[in-house]
Amino acid sequence: FKVPIVDNEPMRGYAVGSSERKALEAAIVKMEQELPFEVPCIVNGKPVKTGKLAKQIIPSDHARHLCSYHEADQATVASAIDGALAAKAEWEGMPWNDRAAIFLRAAELVSGKYRYQLMAATMLGQGKNAWQAEIDAAAELTDFFRFGVKYVEELYIQQPPKNAAGTWNRVEYRALEGFVLAVSPFNFTAIGGNLPGTPALVGNVVAWKPSPAATYSNYLVYQILAEAGVPPGVIQFVPGPPPEVVAQAIDHPAFSALHFTGSTFVFKKLWKDIAANLDKYKGYPRIVGETGGKNFHVIHKSADVRNAVLQSVRGAFEYQGQKCSALSRMYVSSSLWNSGFKDQFLGEIAKIKVGVPQDFSNFMGPVIGKPAFDKIVDYIGKGKAAGGEVLIGGTGDDSKGYFIQPTVILTKDPRSVTMAEEIFGPVVTVYVYDDADFEKTLELIDSTSPYALTGSIFAADRKALVLATNKLRNSSGNVYYNEKCTGAVVGQQPFGGARASGTNDKAGSISIFYRFVSARSIKENF
Ligand code: GLU
Repeated sequence: FKVPIVDNEPMRGYAVGSSERKALEAAIVKMEQELPFEVPCIVNGKPVKTGKLAKQIIPSDHARHLCSYHEADQATVASAIDGALAAKAEWEGMPWNDRAAIFLRAAELVSGKYRYQLMAATMLGQGKNAWQAEIDAAAELTDFFRFGVKYVEELYIQQPPKNAAGTWNRVEYRALEGFVLAVSPFNFTAIGGNLPGTPALVGNVVAWKPSPAATYSNYLVYQILAEAGVPPGVIQFVPGPPPEVVAQAIDHPAFSALHFTGSTFVFKKLWKDIAANLDKYKGYPRIVGETGGKNFHVIHKSADVRNAVLQSVRGAFEYQGQKCSALSRMYVSSSLWNSGFKDQFLGEIAKIKVGVPQDFSNFMGPVIGKPAFDKIVDYIGKGKAAGGEVLIGGTGDDSKGYFIQPTVILTKDPRSVTMAEEIFGPVVTVYVYDDADFEKTLELIDSTSPYALTGSIFAADRKALVLATNKLRNSSGNVYYNEKCTGAVVGQQPFGGARASGTNDKAGSISIFYRFVSARSIKENF
């Protein structure tokens, strides 16, 4: 059979008075009435309550919490891994069409029955506004499942090898021997589903440790996968304190792969820990990670100012700058900056409302928690100490929720700390360059930070676009022309960065599936 033709999930608008707006508002009200929820670990399809309770707070109102969850303890992680390994043969042996059908069904459940509940959990728990939640928990998650099925089909039926006379050569793609560890981040519910989903689609079994700050939405994703038919044991839901669960999993002899999205620091540490354990494993583990970014917009003198301004506001401040891809350093041509760019940019930012996600007029919500709030405020201080001028924002208020005003720092030092280090918050630093120095500026972009995730080039002049594209060849894994550096769409812009930003295996494309299979060549003579 061929799998159905897939397309991107259509985006809903949530206009005032629309039925979708009403449905989403009702889901939020219901969730607020019913919270806090209790979230167990799930091992072999059954809830496990370890009694070691931790809380996922509501970042816009930190006196409340969305859920209490049972942290996986050693015995739970051990039985999760045993159970996964026991479930493997049947899952891997299941006809591909049936695995595909399960994930297509999961996509349908996300798009339909659970859409508003998942969005409400993402809004309350992770502080997204409705449109950011729609992009993530509704559209991208659906797309990951649907396009994943299409890519795996392509992987399985790709161009067969040549056959010499009297022979038949085939290549089969086996799941990895052992289990996969998925460690997912708080900032995208969709990535929560994708990190265990991608390896599972090709027949792997997975221990999944979600981010503590996204536990509830990720638990709902787990339940959707189970309702869609992922058999007990295939994906084990083991929330917990990151170092313990993860360390125990990579210490296990059957560990075969890490699928990670999170900080560069943690990823490097895990890589070293895995290397230190190498002699314990049967094979060489696959390591797939998407980590930090220090993403740029470079604005050439030929750029359309209005477009560059609006795209920069969105790139820097949507979801409070907490996307790995968020804009955090800008290089603006001096003639544009002084002839309207600055005023328009600050004017648009001044209109931004910051507040609780339940009020749909708020463009920005809270940052994810106290450590994030403190770190971002600290970086604003460091930017000032390095001679930066705060043009707008620069303040935070954590009395009720973790709110930080959209902040622009103007620097004369293009290598200053806020131009180089990842902040992961609503702070963008601007360096204004002399028009004649465009080429030098490109060199600066390439050499200032260790990251290479996303970047955008704004120019009407094709020659400038070509020059920048060539000079910035290794400076990002995703580059955009005249558009913000966030918002890669599954199936349209394969996503991932190089250098310190990750292994660049491209989520939302066929490439990533190769990492979770092991090929076997079969030759038969007649
Ligand atoms: N894929 C998202 C984007 O293009 C970012 C994912 C992330 O933050 O990890 O904006």
